[in-house]
Amino acid sequence: SPPLLQVNDLKKHFPVNKGLFGRKSEWVYAVDGVSFEIARGETLSLVGESGCGKSTVGRAILRLFDITSGQVILDGQRIDDAAPATMRQMRRRVQVVFQDPFSSLNPRMRVRDILAEPIRNFGLAKSAEDLEVRVTALMDTVRLPREALNRRPHEFSGGQRQRIGIARALAAEPELIVCDEAVSALDVSVKAQIVNLLQDLQQKFGLALLFISHDLAIVEHMTHRVAVMYLGKIVEVAPRREIFAAPRHPYTKALLSAVPLPEPGAQRNPIILGGDVPSPINPPSGCRFHTRCPYVFDRCRTEEPVLRTTGPEQWVACHLDEALEAP
Ligand code: SF4
Ligand code: MG
Repeated sequence: SPPLLQVNDLKKHFPVNKGLFGRKSEWVYAVDGVSFEIARGETLSLVGESGCGKSTVGRAILRLFDITSGQVILDGQRIDDAAPATMRQMRRRVQVVFQDPFSSLNPRMRVRDILAEPIRNFGLAKSAEDLEVRVTALMDTVRLPREALNRRPHEFSGGQRQRIGIARALAAEPELIVCDEAVSALDVSVKAQIVNLLQDLQQKFGLALLFISHDLAIVEHMTHRVAVMYLGKIVEVAPRREIFAAPRHPYTKALLSAVPLPEPGAQRNPIILGGDVPSPINPPSGCRFHTRCPYVFDRCRTEEPVLRTTGPEQWVACHLDEALEAP
């Protein structure tokens, strides 16, 4: 059977108006040819600095906007251009948990109604009793007390609100949840609790997760695979163990060098990158990382490296990596 999710050469370019009276139009190449797959029950983490396009990829999968080109395929069926009736079912199967539970939960609604809404929208409850059974079961699942059903979002802590957000996503019985910086705003101990909850739910329901995060320390603890993005492109994809033990792309090496080691006092050798992330309006020629790469050479400035298979489930887009491997 096909993978749960396939993203093929996804592009999302936004127009921006500059100049006097906004007449001069330029393009932001937010996502510029991204391809990956997610298997059923798998966690794929999409990582990179803010502005690299990872959230845009998540939103494209959720079809919060039309994509510029490419394909998003869920369970063998294209959803990037699906008709409304198909889209309704697809929306049920792919849910989202956003970073900020404050803004994603309606403050005027009781938790009961927040959870009942998707169940009603997707016609999942057979009766009023069934609706109540589902809503209380969701509270148990995310480990919130049932009496909290009558309260409103502001009466909860950040971590509890994120549990409500997860319960709302689960209410639709999804197969894939896009978690966009879902634990980034939480305190360290709460972060760990929510990550553990997500892992338990993944086991229990066979859920796939697209875990979008800039926090590699968290990613290291919960992911199956990692895809690294830089300026709208994926530069490396690898299983968790491989990428954390032996990152290959110079950008991945720099990102991982900032992740604290578990042993107290132990440190990686930090790789400090020069310069700022260039604008996605005029991305650098050749390898987009060439303006900051410590290993840049001539070819990097003119020729764009392609994602090349380097091992099982492993891809790297780097001329140096290719040169080092050549016989
Ligand atoms: Fe650095 Fe060149 Fe590799 Fe790009 S292609 S990451 S500039 S060595
Ligand atoms: Mg973001």
